Amino acid sequence: MKTDRRSFLKSAGLLTAAAAVLHPAQIFAQAERGRKSSGSKKMELTWVPFDAKMKHVFTIANSSRTTTPLVLTKITYDGYVGYGEAAMPPYLGETQASCMEFLKKVDLNKFASPFLIEDIMKYVDSIATNNCAAKASIDIALHDLVGNIMGQPWWKIWGWDPTTTPNTSFTVGIDTEEVVREKTKEAAPYKVIKVKLGRTEEEDKMMINTIRSVTDTVICVDANQGWKDKHYALDMINWLNERNVNMVEQPMSKYALDDTAWITERSPLPIIADEACQRLTDVKKLHGAYHGINIKLMKCTGMREAREMVSLAESLNMKLMIGCMSETSCAITAGAQIAPKTQWADLDGNVLIANDCYKGMTVVDGKVTLHDAPGLGLTHVGKPLL
Ligand code: MG
Repeated sequence: MKTDRRSFLKSAGLLTAAAAVLHPAQIFAQAERGRKSSGSKKMELTWVPFDAKMKHVFTIANSSRTTTPLVLTKITYDGYVGYGEAAMPPYLGETQASCMEFLKKVDLNKFASPFLIEDIMKYVDSIATNNCAAKASIDIALHDLVGNIMGQPWWKIWGWDPTTTPNTSFTVGIDTEEVVREKTKEAAPYKVIKVKLGRTEEEDKMMINTIRSVTDTVICVDANQGWKDKHYALDMINWLNERNVNMVEQPMSKYALDDTAWITERSPLPIIADEACQRLTDVKKLHGAYHGINIKLMKCTGMREAREMVSLAESLNMKLMIGCMSETSCAITAGAQIAPKTQWADLDGNVLIANDCYKGMTVVDGKVTLHDAPGLGLTHVGKPLL
């Protein structure tokens, strides 16, 4: 009977048409049927600490560093593998030790399958209040794993158009005129330069003028809460508006909601929340005070919550940006799955480090370019670390 039905569908041309619109569950069923692997039906979580080495000393308004501590994670299930990552710049309060301590508490064997991402991440979130990067390292590995089992990338599972990704920016940190000129030249393949401001007027204007002495490429500005007075901030924004800047991120303290709302009302450029916007619960509070939000997987516990933030922000008519920390191509590729829904992407964390241990999302002509490979579609650079 089975064969007859299949032959009928095939001859009627229906099988090919049906394959093009398969539900994720059907894709999974197909993968299950075609699968050769006979691995353990238990999820096993492993991890390893890893120091990302910065190509340049990285300076923002309040700090400088040469390395970023990471913890790389892996979840195996039934012969499939998923990779994740926690990136922990020091100002966020997590460390490799706190992350690994958190991961020790996670018991994935409470759950029958990695497909229960909703339940698993609710449980993971309930283990402790903070540890957002540690949580993201599990969320990302789970998504990679499930995508690998389904044989599809997440932008496709979510039903998003990969051609709508924005150009990604390349960050030029605060530095001397000479280094800024050098970094600006390094940014040449990118269509957007992101500039870290938020110091004195003289230093901020030097940064912009130095970049403008090299290129006319559009600039995104990130003040990292550095400006202290709303009138000064608005004057700076007006000055920037005349220099081909297309947005300003976090002009003032994350706590200065009224002052930021005052700026947003008058600003000729979109004002985007970064430090002020960590998780889903923050989005509503920022509506009206900012034009939009910068989503980062390490702040919001990963891809699951990031997708919810996208939906909520869209329903509130807020603009969207996808950002990153200094990360390997693992977390960058996870963030890139969100990019089709955003106006700005700042996904350069992997190119700012000298020892990226994965290959994933690529940048083609400055644009975030998503691939068809299942899960995150990662490959290892060098010997796998776990
Ligand atoms: Mg920022």
